[in-house]
Amino acid sequence: MHAEVISVGTEILLGQITDTNSTFISQRLAELGIDVYFKTVVGDNEKRLLQALEIASGRSDMVILSGGLGPTKDDLTKQTVAKFLNCGLLTDKDALESIEEYYRQNNRKMTDNNLLQAKYLEGSVSLPNESGMAVGSYYQNQNGPDFILLPGPPSEMRPMFDKQVMHRLKENYAREHLLFSRVLRFYGIGESQLVTELDDLINGQTNPTIAPYAKVGEVTLRLTAQADSKESAKEILDETEQVISKRVGQYLYGYGDDNSLPEVVVEKLKQKGLTVSASESLTGGSFQKAVTDIAGSSQVFPGGFVTYSASAKENLLDIPKEIIIENGVVSEATAKWMAERTRIKMDTDFGVSFTGVAGPDTLEGNPAGTVWIGISQRDRQTAAFEYHFYGDRDAVRIRSVLAGFGLINN
Ligand code: ATP
Ligand code: MG
Repeated sequence: MHAEVISVGTEILLGQITDTNSTFISQRLAELGIDVYFKTVVGDNEKRLLQALEIASGRSDMVILSGGLGPTKDDLTKQTVAKFLNCGLLTDKDALESIEEYYRQNNRKMTDNNLLQAKYLEGSVSLPNESGMAVGSYYQNQNGPDFILLPGPPSEMRPMFDKQVMHRLKENYAREHLLFSRVLRFYGIGESQLVTELDDLINGQTNPTIAPYAKVGEVTLRLTAQADSKESAKEILDETEQVISKRVGQYLYGYGDDNSLPEVVVEKLKQKGLTVSASESLTGGSFQKAVTDIAGSSQVFPGGFVTYSASAKENLLDIPKEIIIENGVVSEATAKWMAERTRIKMDTDFGVSFTGVAGPDTLEGNPAGTVWIGISQRDRQTAAFEYHFYGDRDAVRIRSVLAGFGLINN
């Protein structure tokens, strides 16, 4: 089963809106194990839409269109698909009634175009629109691909897809074996090293499949298992996760698409009732922003400092001038003093500090990417670690912030 998504709308071609509909549809189809082989964007133009339909029906088993079901002149998806399929349009009585009711209540006059919104493809199932007027169509075809017509506004398309389309696709097409996935999140190991360590698994095994994905500073692995049930999928995934953990488990910090390292760390601190503060030089407050981006972070974060210049480090954190002069701003000593002073001043369990060279220029003879991160903990010796991050200014800062979270997590 190969699906194709066609997004209809001149605004998309002009770059005025972003085609988020096809992204949503692809994600849903992936959940069902239906492959999407092509996506097309076409303007509100009959001739070109007919061309797109012609091409799609030659190469796909299912064609899902969004946009152009409305009442205005440029909305011509339904009529064009009907023309292509050589079928008529029927009126959905319920939809018509609610459209008429809407116009009665608002004392407005209905036009013929509004009638069109209640029409669906002859031979298809009409899909009610709970947040708008235009109905969709689910057209199952004996001698060609199926066609599914959906409205353009995401607020209408998404509920229609979830409530009207998903269960029909499940009944008709979902693979006997459903797909289940698990995302493993790694920190402190690069994508290439991870791939090297797991090369035989990534290339040699098909159930589950293993797909690595890297963002700045973090790598994720998506394991996707085919199984008849959740339970047997869990077994398959557990087994592979164990093998992976044996090799690179020390870098594994969490699970799921949405659990970033900052979220995992803040949650851990919350559970343990611990607090953290920070003083930041090269990161300019990014660590503290990352903490406060997380809802409920006030439980773990009272505040901190941005101490960009040497004098700010002296004045805000009361670090003796000589320490900075003798050791330099980018140094173990400065990082330790910053971390400890921050923790004491803010009376937190952890104090983290960032001092280094974001780049592109060097500082005190240190190349861009040289960063010292200090960590001070109640009743423990304050420590600082040196890093050499690669990448541009942004990347160095992001990696520094993640490394700070990594130190707290350890
Ligand atoms: P309406 O009844 O609102 O006219 P419609 O089904 O005719 O709906 P369009 O006219 O094509 O849909 O698009 C209406 C609006 O929906 C667009 O202005 C845009 O905001 C949004 N939209 C359309 N297509 C997409 C898409 N592929 N991705 C995201 N948003 C979209
Ligand atoms: Mg429209």
